[in-house]
Amino acid sequence: MSLIVQKFGGTSLADAEKIHRAARRAIRSKLGGQRVVIVVSAMGKTTDQLIALSAAISSDPPKRELDMLLATGEQVSIALMAMAIHAAGHEAISLTGAQLGLVTDSMHTRARIQRISRDRLDRELDAGKIVIVAGFQGIDSSGELTTLGRGASDTTAAALAATLGAEICEINTDVDGVYTADPRRVPLARKIDEISYDEMLELAAAGAGVMHSRAIEFGKKYNVPIHVRNSLTDEKGTMVMAETPGMEAVSVRGVTLREGVAAISLSGVPSKSGVAAKIFRAVAERDVLVDDIVQSIYDNRRLAHVAFVVAAEDAEETGAVCRTIAADLGIERVEVEADVSKLSVVGVGMRSHSGIAAKMFDALAAKGINIQNISTSEIVLSCVVRSKDGLAALQALHAAFDLDKPPTTHEV
Ligand code: ADP
Ligand code: ASP
Ligand code: MG
Repeated sequence: MSLIVQKFGGTSLADAEKIHRAARRAIRSKLGGQRVVIVVSAMGKTTDQLIALSAAISSDPPKRELDMLLATGEQVSIALMAMAIHAAGHEAISLTGAQLGLVTDSMHTRARIQRISRDRLDRELDAGKIVIVAGFQGIDSSGELTTLGRGASDTTAAALAATLGAEICEINTDVDGVYTADPRRVPLARKIDEISYDEMLELAAAGAGVMHSRAIEFGKKYNVPIHVRNSLTDEKGTMVMAETPGMEAVSVRGVTLREGVAAISLSGVPSKSGVAAKIFRAVAERDVLVDDIVQSIYDNRRLAHVAFVVAAEDAEETGAVCRTIAADLGIERVEVEADVSKLSVVGVGMRSHSGIAAKMFDALAAKGINIQNISTSEIVLSCVVRSKDGLAALQALHAAFDLDKPPTTHEV
């Protein structure tokens, strides 16, 4: 008997009617002969409200207590979903991450899944029940409650789908699928029918909030297709799947804008062995995540310029750490620009199409937008721009790569 994991996001569970609707979708799958596991997020904006509540109590709440608070949102949803399924005359049981045996490391507020026990799940499914699991939460090996990071109910769903060998992992959300850009910011964005795991992973990592990036890692590793679709319609959405040969025909699959980042630049850095290690060790010790490191050498290889990107909320602390070590290491200048955004264009077609960088920079130049750090990898090209230019830049790139037209036409 095939198994489906169906995840419903917060907006898709925002009120009683929406919960009934989600329950009906799960029941239809069950009646169609599938075993069904549902993963739910907290209702509507509950998680944001809980965070605001904690901020009203303390500016620096212990992360353990934040997890205790945030995990309550999903517990409300599982119980209500189970009630909705019972009310429709079907059997269901709700389970928290702890009851299920979803074990994580101990990194409160951004824990990673280590293992998922199948015992309870199999028992309930064998008994013919729809199993409803609280997304976003787990327990560590000493029994402490943890959460997996904002948006991570997707990851719970994909990890369960991988563990159970699900035929498909369905992500039911408030848009029709994955678009060529966030449709709230680019009105001409189009729904993508099929996207490779790698492209989706890069789009998510670069800020496309429609899916949590670790969910796609699970999908890719265990080859579980992920269907991102609208919870309110029966239309086919976007299939996130293994790459097919035809996918490279399209040079750019999508574009993203990540706001709320900061650019840190160090100039006059002595170009000597061990200096970069000391800089990034000092930053890592503050638990700051670093992205897009760029180094260039000048002055006859005597000096280097080192630049990187961090989250805006880490900007001040990172700047302070760099200034502290600058004197010891003989670094001449540390600059922090907190008001920047990162633009990325993503596509497996970049491997076989040339001229993508030129087209990207031309499009930005035509709008008079200045580019700061540039970084590339096999299927991503990113650059940093001033925040005030971010939206115009995103829309300009979307148009430049013809993403508002059906895919066959956007060859470079
Ligand atoms: P859920 O509550 O279902 O998890 P999210 O808010 O996390 O929903 O994700 C859906 C939202 O992601 C959409 O409303 C959309 O604005 C945003 N989004 C950002 N980038 C994209 C994209 N490339 N395609 C589709 N939606 C996107
Ligand atoms: N409720 C959590 C959040 O808002 C997890 C999720 O929605 O995926 O981040
Ligand atoms: Mg989400």
